[in-house]
Amino acid sequence: MPAAASPAPSDLALKRRARKTYRELVEAYPYAVPELDFSNPFELLVATVLSAQTTDVRVNAITPALFARFPDAQAMASADPGALEEIIRPTGFYRAKAKNLLALAQRLVDSHGGQVPPRLADLVKLPGVGRKTANVVLGNAFGVPGITVDTHFGRLAQRFGWTQETDPVKVEHAVGDLFEKRDWTMLSHVVVFHGRRVCHARKPACGACPVAHLCPSFGVGEPEPVAARKLLKYELAPGRQELLELMRAGRTRRELRAMGYGLDA
Ligand code: SF4
Repeated sequence: MPAAASPAPSDLALKRRARKTYRELVEAYPYAVPELDFSNPFELLVATVLSAQTTDVRVNAITPALFARFPDAQAMASADPGALEEIIRPTGFYRAKAKNLLALAQRLVDSHGGQVPPRLADLVKLPGVGRKTANVVLGNAFGVPGITVDTHFGRLAQRFGWTQETDPVKVEHAVGDLFEKRDWTMLSHVVVFHGRRVCHARKPACGACPVAHLCPSFGVGEPEPVAARKLLKYELAPGRQELLELMRAGRTRRELRAMGYGLDA
């Protein structure tokens, strides 16, 4: 690729503002991690496939049983479809998802020795795996920087004025140009965290938003601080200060659940 030309002043201003927004989001959510539970690339790949059209909370509720029964690609490839469907049923579209998982596991066994390949080009060829899923796996299981454009990321990229693109691949490239590559994975986490907790699709809590001073869309949601605070979710929701402190102190999601904290909204 040819070297990029020097950015025009307005591009430079945009880049500076975007990077400042990123730094302040990291300060707001230093504990941001993928919200899907996993302990190896296979688990993350399967959990991400299951997360289509449902919440991470629902996926996390069934993956312990799923991975206890089918811990790797070999075991899942030879699963009884009915047994697999039964376990993943709460995630919705379970027949289609079970079919995808069986095909996915079989392909991993046939073409990759039962392992998840660590390359985008190989991942996107797997059944049921698109670019978003591939970037989630690369960024979080293999440490390869990647921008994950889901519904939250796409919405916030527009509200922050980072891009007017709506196609996820175009958003990924446009936003990628604004940031250092090494920051792409954490950027994905903090933006999605912010979208889930503060900058909601319908009622953004602008008056309680830590990056409101950097956001050209301030006011599309509730601007009044007291009313806005009531719109916050998860650990930022009213009355969850204790959970927030524990997350800031580095407690993992599994530890928090074991302590009895529900992590849903
Ligand atoms: S100011 Fe409002 S629109 Fe902008 S990021 Fe914050 S909540 Fe979202």
